[in-house]
Amino acid sequence: MLPKMDMCPCGSGKRYGDCCGKKGITYGVFEYGKARVVFDIEQTNRAIENLLSFLSAEVFGLYDQGAQIDLGEALEKLHVIYEMFAKSLAPFSEASFCREGCTACCHHIIETTPIEAEMIRRCLEKCLDSSARMSILSEIEKKRAYYPGPIALDGEYDEDLQDRHFEAHIPCPFLSNDGSCRVYESRPLVCRTYMVFSDPHQCKIGNGMAIYEAEYFPDVYRGAQCLSLLARGDLNLRRHLPDWLVNEFRIQT
Ligand code: SF4
Ligand SMILES: [Zn+2]
Repeated sequence: MLPKMDMCPCGSGKRYGDCCGKKGITYGVFEYGKARVVFDIEQTNRAIENLLSFLSAEVFGLYDQGAQIDLGEALEKLHVIYEMFAKSLAPFSEASFCREGCTACCHHIIETTPIEAEMIRRCLEKCLDSSARMSILSEIEKKRAYYPGPIALDGEYDEDLQDRHFEAHIPCPFLSNDGSCRVYESRPLVCRTYMVFSDPHQCKIGNGMAIYEAEYFPDVYRGAQCLSLLARGDLNLRRHLPDWLVNEFRIQT
């Protein structure tokens, strides 16, 4: 909890005890790595509860009933999950040291479920022009020998493989030369959760990072896996993101 004498995080310029403290708004303080995150406890908890309720009613509930949905509906649900997830993370992503142009995390293995990859496939076809698509596909073709294979639902890439991939310094093919993400609005969950609170130098060497992680993240990942199953039958793999484009999806150029 924030002490009364601290400046109020709402930006009023008053002390907390004379401002939001009087209105009953409570702020939590989360010290992590080199950062200090101040967040509205009730607002953040509400955002997390809304997300978990949506997952329970609109994803896990359908899965438990053995329902099937079409790809379009699954993508709409994924979009809602991305938006709700962003709301729940807002104070933490604002306070993290991640900034556009710092691209270290885009050199890791990007574990992606089928439904997340499908959203990116559609984004490639709809949002990018033909020459951008061609350049991404040719980059993927050049690097395909370096991509790790698929992993099963409960599997993980081993740490050695992850380290080797990072050391080989192979950028995600969606990373543009200016350091921005060409599919930012559709980027997968793993890119959305990557919030670093340690010195950015640690990201460059790929070691000793303090990465934010919350208890509800596994439910969000499970939501994307469930949506993949609901919309694509028994396909329950994860792959490194560009590997989906090599092995599963065809892109119109
Ligand atoms: S999808 Fe975008 S944010 Fe994610 S690794 Fe690729 S370039 Fe980086
Ligand atoms: Zn205030």
